[in-house]
Amino acid sequence: MKKKFLALLMASVMMLGLAACSSSSDATTEGTDATTEEGGDTASGDLPTVGVLIYKYDDTYISTVRNSLQAALDGKATVEMQDGKGDQATQNDQLDVMISKGVDVLCVNMVDAKAASGVVEKASAAGIPTIFFNREPDTEVIKSYEKACFIGTNAIDAGKMQGDIIKDLMDAHPEYDLNGDGKVQYVMFQGEPDNPEAIARTQYSVEQAVANGLQMEQVGETQVCNWDTETAQKAMEAMLAANEGKIELVIANNDGMAIGCIAALSNIGYNTGAEGAPYVPVIGVDATDAAKDAIAKGQMSATVLQDGDAMGKAIAAAALNAAAGKEFLDGTDYVYDDTGVAVRIPYAPYTGE
Ligand code: CA
Repeated sequence: MKKKFLALLMASVMMLGLAACSSSSDATTEGTDATTEEGGDTASGDLPTVGVLIYKYDDTYISTVRNSLQAALDGKATVEMQDGKGDQATQNDQLDVMISKGVDVLCVNMVDAKAASGVVEKASAAGIPTIFFNREPDTEVIKSYEKACFIGTNAIDAGKMQGDIIKDLMDAHPEYDLNGDGKVQYVMFQGEPDNPEAIARTQYSVEQAVANGLQMEQVGETQVCNWDTETAQKAMEAMLAANEGKIELVIANNDGMAIGCIAALSNIGYNTGAEGAPYVPVIGVDATDAAKDAIAKGQMSATVLQDGDAMGKAIAAAALNAAAGKEFLDGTDYVYDDTGVAVRIPYAPYTGE
């Protein structure tokens, strides 16, 4: 008991020490910032400030991007980051604050991509280079400001990759054709109704499967579940109540909804991961930890890896260039696509193999 107490005491002393360390280093950083104008002689005194606006922190994929961006800028820039909490008005206010603070570069993950023209207006008036990422504004809006660019993915590619995965799955598993009619009876779970990314995934997953030679037949209506796990679970429960045994594939625009579908399936004994349990293949997009886990447990077939880590690194590289007064892609391996203002981070299939 005594030993344990001592160990605890030691641990808390160490933690206090750490806390003291980190707070003193914070103080040092602030102090250095304050003396920058007098020509601070440490490297940190010259650090640029990168303002980052996130559409909402509570998004698994965006969290990956956020952490990667933060890590890539560590020691190279002071990062000011704000959570838009899914509200464009909140994000507009945060933008105003960042501009008034005089950040050197803005990295903006729009809540509503259609509101990007307002961001361009304010950022260009202040002369602050702006990198939009993940949620894509109209190309014309980006082009309207010479110090703006976009870093994201190609919405169509995620859908096409799902279509390729479907083809591979069905070829490898003829038993998935439950009714033996040579067609794939599928259900579709869509993110938001008007989100271009969601629309493209819904459309191109099926189109690509058809282009690959499959016959696709939708069961029921497309279920719009706003990327949300619980909403998708409820919708899938209703789908199963009406069509149990007739669904041969679940296609979801993201892993969050795919996980909801798996919960609904496993509640009635499907996709439990147990040997011999009935199984309906489920595919998603994002390669979240929950999806990777479900794939490893045999509850899910595949997902599409949206490489948040690579995205964060690309944003950081462009931001540091811009803050140094250079062109966004200067000295990097990134290239613009044919719009001339957008960089596309590629997707990859993930099957856990
Ligand atoms: Ca069939």
